[in-house]
Amino acid sequence: MSQESHGEYGSYVGGTERPVEDGVAVLNPSTNDPVATAAEGGREGIDAALSAAEDALPEWRATDPGERGDLLRDVADAIRDSADDLAELGTAETGRPLRESRLFVRNGAEYLDYYAGLTDKIEGESVPLGEGDLDYTRREPLGITGQILPWNAPALLSLRGIAPALACGNAVVAKPAPEAPLVATEIARIAGEAGLPDGVWNVVPGDGATTGAALTGSDRVDKVVFTGSVETARTVMKSAADHLTPVGLETGGKSPSLVFPDADLDAAVEDTLGVFTMAGQVCFATTRVFVHEDVYDEFAERVAAATEELTVGPGTENPDVGPLITREARDRVAEYVSEAVDDGPGRVLAGGEIPREEGNFYAPTVVEDVPDDAPLSCDEVFGPVFTLYEFSDDDEAVRRANDTRYGLYAAVWTRDVSRAHRVARRLDAGSVSVNEFPVTAPQAPFGGYKESGIGREKGTQAVREYTQTKNVAISLDE
Ligand code: NAD
Repeated sequence: MSQESHGEYGSYVGGTERPVEDGVAVLNPSTNDPVATAAEGGREGIDAALSAAEDALPEWRATDPGERGDLLRDVADAIRDSADDLAELGTAETGRPLRESRLFVRNGAEYLDYYAGLTDKIEGESVPLGEGDLDYTRREPLGITGQILPWNAPALLSLRGIAPALACGNAVVAKPAPEAPLVATEIARIAGEAGLPDGVWNVVPGDGATTGAALTGSDRVDKVVFTGSVETARTVMKSAADHLTPVGLETGGKSPSLVFPDADLDAAVEDTLGVFTMAGQVCFATTRVFVHEDVYDEFAERVAAATEELTVGPGTENPDVGPLITREARDRVAEYVSEAVDDGPGRVLAGGEIPREEGNFYAPTVVEDVPDDAPLSCDEVFGPVFTLYEFSDDDEAVRRANDTRYGLYAAVWTRDVSRAHRVARRLDAGSVSVNEFPVTAPQAPFGGYKESGIGREKGTQAVREYTQTKNVAISLDE
């Protein structure tokens, strides 16, 4: 694909796309050819976007809640109308299968639908101070939310945070990741065309150290919403601390899946392959799979055979598994696997190789016999690799599953309903799925225990994250 194929993407600020002066190439991970040029917004771009947001905010927060909801529904419809183009753009910048890109655009629009329905249900409470007073609370918008986005699911992850922020009456300045800024910018433009007032949703592409830091360190931002790695989250939190700006952090994971001997093995094997969605670049992927000794051999054999069957290729060909985002990411994944197996005791059961030199592909991989404290067991590899571990009893499974600095998700496979609830309670994770691959619906709260994050996105809980409480006390004295 040539650079001309998707053109230039300037910052979208105050309802206008700014010309690209200092652009960087966006590469197609299937070929590493440029597919577009995106702006490097820098401090100047962020300042302009914050000014546009400040101008738009008073009217937006005063907009009738029902009208805000109608506008968000219009934006959802406009995004769905552009789904094919957005999916193509998403696949161009991330390399992922078109099928996944389409799904994430649809899922993104669902966040808008969901929060459109909540705009007129953001209720306060009345507080019983006694006969002499009327006391009530209001949930008011925070102001400007600065949203730092990762590259792995731009449509879905943009809208996960931006839909509730807008529904609650906040303005948004978003900074997408330099690897994949196209869809994140395009959906803001579509929203503007659909009628969202200028300046309510601004997008400034650019790098982390300059553009991102200008946003997280600004005293004009009322909340920093960050999705990305734990390491960057630390920097972001420190930067926001300068102005005591509150942060919401959605970071990484090393999620366990526990397969008990009474599990439906057909379903467990099939769903375990869900780890390879987006070439394993999924924050909640269950990459540590603990299997009871009674069914370990059968499970390992079946899941390895199924993994070997998966097709790998460019997203435009709709394979089972696409490329990793960059060559560097591919090499990092390859190194983790080599480190675990070259000097033992790790053993590759499937994959474990670079299947083609062009692009950033790594074969879907299953490894066993890796010690619990090896880097492949402990670090978020963010690639198409999972490890298998054998356990003997429930206590051991829970202890080893919890032995991680992360706590984003956990999966449990059992037909015993009591065991399912017992184990779900004991797992240190923000979400637990039972007998299915992790589900992340707009209605269900999502976020991490431990280093996997601070705060919750999604569901009605997100309304708390994007509003602040005001208490009003009125004397009823005559
Ligand atoms: P990253 O941490 O490298 O980058 C995330 C964003 O932060 C990018 O936009 C980047 O430009 C920006 N950034 C970098 N340095 C910055 C700085 N100093 N100041 C401000 N911004 C800065 O993460 P990534 O590689 O883009 O994404 C992958 C990571 O994201 C994985 O760890 C994954 O688990 C995590 N993730 C988490 C969730 C979740 O919901 N918990 C969802 C998707 C991805």
